[in-house]
Amino acid sequence: MSNKNNELEEIVSELATYLRFQKDMGIKSVFRGIKKKSEPVKNEERKQSKNPEPESKMSTNEDIITIEEPSTLFDGSKTMTLEEIREEIGDCTRCQLHEGRTNLVFGAGNPKAKLVFVGEGPGRDEDMQGKPFVGRSGQLLTKIIEAMGLTREDVYICNVVKCRPPNNRTPEPDEMSTCEQFLFKQIRTIKPEVIVCLGATAAKSILRTKNSLGSLRGKFHSYSGTKLMVTYHPAALLRNPHFKKPAWEDMQAVMKELRLPLPKK
Ligand code: SF4
Repeated sequence: MSNKNNELEEIVSELATYLRFQKDMGIKSVFRGIKKKSEPVKNEERKQSKNPEPESKMSTNEDIITIEEPSTLFDGSKTMTLEEIREEIGDCTRCQLHEGRTNLVFGAGNPKAKLVFVGEGPGRDEDMQGKPFVGRSGQLLTKIIEAMGLTREDVYICNVVKCRPPNNRTPEPDEMSTCEQFLFKQIRTIKPEVIVCLGATAAKSILRTKNSLGSLRGKFHSYSGTKLMVTYHPAALLRNPHFKKPAWEDMQAVMKELRLPLPKK
């Protein structure tokens, strides 16, 4: 009986936390249900239709991707500090994205973070300020981090490409393959317990997959032994509030993995 009571208390606590999260993000009505989709979502969040239906079920062992860090990048090399990685990037002209940048956006946060968020690339505000996720999407990411009981100073935030793609287009494959070495080095240095890929572009780059975001999210993959969760980019959450429920489920799974208590305000 007491087990059942504990279970009920946990469910009520999780529900209360979720509703507070929704409220924090400006949602004034409760989304009551999602019709399950038989096919995975076909396109990444940039191209999603106006009323897509997210897959909210947490998968356990299907389609788990396990990938090692690129051996050619690290074979015999020592782990660099974040400062050394930034120095190595320098005033980078390795790909065409350098042409339009105002500031290179390296990354920010705790160099010993247990949790690293990875987006695809800087936008206009980030390019202007030289900091990751500081625009509208960044403000929402801050709310998500705070809903997890953390601050931006507790986590590390970076992108696959360090320079803004023109008109916020998706980075080209050659741009990502040129720049991603620095992301891999950042991850190796920070050694987080969990990586969260924000959006399909970051996930596809790290996991070397063409799978859709809908089929990737909701379960832990593995990058070089580190648990990796894929979830919606905050920009997609701003465009479609229906994604907030599955995104919060993803973050709750991350919180459990990090042994974080559900916040009780
Ligand atoms: S995106 Fe990366 S590789 Fe391209 S110029 Fe910027 S730092 Fe260099």
